[in-house]
Amino acid sequence: MNLPVPTCADCGVPRFSKKPKKSPYCRRCVGRHTSRLPERRAKASAAMKAHLSDPTVRAHHFARANAGLREAMKDPAFVEKRRELGRRTGLLKRGMSKHPAGSPLRISNGKKSAATKLAWCPPEYRDEYKRLIKRQNIPAAEARRMIEAMIEADARRYHATGVLPQAARIEGAEA
Ligand SMILES: [Zn+2]
Repeated sequence: MNLPVPTCADCGVPRFSKKPKKSPYCRRCVGRHTSRLPERRAKASAAMKAHLSDPTVRAHHFARANAGLREAMKDPAFVEKRRELGRRTGLLKRGMSKHPAGSPLRISNGKKSAATKLAWCPPEYRDEYKRLIKRQNIPAAEARRMIEAMIEADARRYHATGVLPQAARIEGAEA
């Protein structure tokens, strides 16, 4: 497609460069079109996953994103827009589901799916596992390795001392 294109194929804006154009789209439209191509999406997704697989980069990324959001939330117009978008997403979900959250089917499905997904994790470690994933943004596979290491360490301590560390942790949490 190395031909001169006088106007953008999307918005029709005139393009004045004398050089042949690589793309039929103008600068403002080209991103919108390339980002729809499946191979470009796959490439971008793979690059992003590789980038975020580094724990340091990952922590930095979330810190920056959270700081950006906190800054944006100072603007009442942004807050209102965000609230409105959330409301619309919520309505959409409710409209699509015959079984809203809290209905018997959703509760039983949730329990079944949790039992399958968390079958590897003893119940006394599940709160800690959820905390790692939800509060610390740790990927599930890594959180699982951490919990498994914790289970092993607890078992070693139990053999050595006869004290169940996980039981003490649960009692401590309730107190
Ligand atoms: Zn255009």
